[in-house]
This record gives sequence, C-alpha cells and structure tokens, in this order.
Amino acid sequence: MKETALKEFALVARDLKSLEIGRVLEEEPLYRHTSFRIGGPAAVFLEPSGEEEMVAALDWLHGRGIPMVVLGLGTNLLVSDRGVGAVVISSVRSLRQVEFRGHLVRAGTGVGLVRLAHLAEARGLSGLEFAVSIPGTLGGALVMNAGAHGSAMAAVVRRVTIWQPGRGAETLDGQAFEFDYRESRFQRAPELVALSAEIELEPADPVAIRDRMAHFMEYRKRTQPVGEPNAGSVFKNPAPLYAGKLIDSVGAKGWREGDAEVSAVHANFIVNRGQARAIEVLALMRRVRRAVYQAYHVVLRPEIRWIGPPEGGAGTSWENLWYAAGEGLTEPSA
Ligand SMILES: Cc1cc2nc3c(=O)[nH]c(=O)nc-3n(C[C@H](O)[C@H](O)[C@H](O)COP(=O)(O)OP(=O)(O)OC[C@H]3O[C@@H](n4cnc5c(N)ncnc54)[C@H](O)[C@@H]3O)c2cc1C
Repeated sequence: MKETALKEFALVARDLKSLEIGRVLEEEPLYRHTSFRIGGPAAVFLEPSGEEEMVAALDWLHGRGIPMVVLGLGTNLLVSDRGVGAVVISSVRSLRQVEFRGHLVRAGTGVGLVRLAHLAEARGLSGLEFAVSIPGTLGGALVMNAGAHGSAMAAVVRRVTIWQPGRGAETLDGQAFEFDYRESRFQRAPELVALSAEIELEPADPVAIRDRMAHFMEYRKRTQPVGEPNAGSVFKNPAPLYAGKLIDSVGAKGWREGDAEVSAVHANFIVNRGQARAIEVLALMRRVRRAVYQAYHVVLRPEIRWIGPPEGGAGTSWENLWYAAGEGLTEPSA
C-alpha cells in the first residue's frame, strides 16, 4: 500500500478508536481471519462491540467515503497477499444475538451457522440440518445462499434486516434478495450489509433431526479434506455437471503451485499445505479452469470470493479478475 494511503488509514484508525465502538487494529494480517490461512493485512480491522456500534461504524465510514468490507468467518474467501486497502469490519463479535419465538428464530448475522443449527436442534426445530457442516456465519451464508444436502438458506430465510448507505437499517422479505444457486443480491450490491435475519423452522422429532445432522457430518468427514486449511468448494457446479468430477477427470488432483494443492480427497477443493499465497491459489485455479475448458468447453465459475487489489476492494467481480489478468476464457455463448 502506498505511504500516503497508509497515513490516511492511520488517521481513520485513530478516529475510529476515539469513537469507542469496538476494537480497532491497524495492519491486521487477514490470514488470521480466513479458513484458507491466506491473506495480507487489512489497513484497518474493526470489531464493533454490538449492533448499534456496527451501524454507527457503517454510517461514519460511509459519510467519509472510506472503503469498507464486511467479513464473517472468512470461510469462502481468498484474500490478496497484498492485503486490503479498506476498513475490514468483522461481524463476528457484534451481531451475535439469537432469539427464538415459537418456530421462528431471529439471529444476528455474526452468529455461526453451525451454532444456529445446533440451537434449532436442541429446540426440536427442523430446517437447518443442512447447515451443520457449513462453517461460516449467518451473514456469509445469506450472501452466498449457502447450501448442502439439497437445501439452502433461501428455503428458510423469511426476512432480512440490512444496512444500506444513506438509508440506515431496513427489514425486507427474503424474496428481495434474489437467492439463487450460491448467489444473492448481496453479491451484486456489495454496499449492502446484512445485520440480522428471521428464519422459519418447523417442529419435528428431535431424534430424527439429530440423526440427519450426524449423517451429514459423517458424509463430510468421508468426502472432504477435513483438517487442511481451505475455503470450501472453489468452483460452482455447472449444472447439471459437478465441478469436482470434471476437475478429477482432467487428472488435476494433486496439482500444485507452491503450497496450494488440488485436494486428493475432493478435486473441487484447494488446500493450503503450509505457506500458500493467494497468487498461487489463483495460478492453480487458472490451470484447472483452462484444463476443464479445453476438455469439455465448460467454463467453471468461482464460488470463492476475492478481496483485495489490484482489482478493487469490496465486491470485486471474479470475471473482471480473470479478464484483467489476461486469462479470460471465451464463453461458449459469447
Ligand atoms: C470446509 C468448508 C466446507 C464448506 N462447505 C460449504 C457447503 O457445504 N455449502 C456452502 O454453501 N458453502 C460451504 N463452504 C463455504 C462457506 O462456509 C460458506 O460460503 C459460508 O456461508 C461463508 O460464510 P462466512 O461467514 O465465512 O463468510 P465470509 O467468507 O467471511 O464472506 C463471504 C462473503 O460474504 C460477505 N459478507 C459476510 N458477512 C456479511 C454481512 N453480514 N453483510 C454483507 N456481506 C457479508 C463478505 O464480504 C464476502 O463477500 C465451506 C467452506 C469450508 C471452509
């Protein structure tokens, strides 16, 4: 980051500290906040201490035109080795409230999805079993329309409270977020911040709920590289095909760039075998993507999200990233 930008962010950090809305860290390495264990420093890393403080921080930063990115548990992210020239705001400590009312649950978006699934299980409420092995926050799950085992967030989310620049907090019906396979309006409008959501569950036999969850967990352990840092599925499935099968069939398991490796357990996972850098993961993704395109004329689209320069801060489109890197592949339909 340029020296002038660093000085400006030092002033932003100083001012944020004086507002007393939470913990403010400068040049915080983001590998500490991602499941890939990859990523350079955030110019400023802010952990607001509650929802009010979160909203105050968003208003304050927006009012001054300071770039910001909201982070959940960083389980679907590849962060640039050069870091992020923005205020990175963590939802994990601030948006933590959970309130059950009958078969409805309202939860802050910093709550872990696995925790929410277990809280529902304990109350004999069904609907979140699929989430028992998705290791992010509720917020990240809304943005990604996270899903597994035939279900996804879209099936259970009734309403979402968001923050919008200049408009503050507002609650909208789930349909407003245009959920689709690993997609939502949040991805097209990265200025939106999810604060909380209301989820509708249904009463069911607690033993059946527990059995389903145990079955999903066991399946995970058998089919995914548990224990090695990764960010989940790298590419979306190009329906009706499966990205993992296509990647496996071009012989990519075990391909390596530096410490980034295509998992031998599941070909749609890239694992960090030690000190992998984002640039190595990108190189590996390009190799895999090119091989699948050459073999099948199928364009794989990344599921994991990129944060960092040179392509910009929040909301960077992966398509821009590929084309900017001169690695754009012609779409079959283009
Ligand atoms: C081992 C493993 C298994 C996985 N399995 C699955 C799976 O089965 N199914 C699946 O769908 N995913 C899976 N994932 C991917 C990941 O867990 C999900 O996408 C998860 O929902 C991301 O949540 P997060 O809190 O980590 O989001 P992050 O990675 O922190 O962020 C993801 C995106 O959401 C944005 N964001 C986060 N919080 C907010 C907010 N409150 N408001 C606005 N924007 C926000 C971020 O800026 C970023 O663009 C897996 C990942 C791992 C590591």
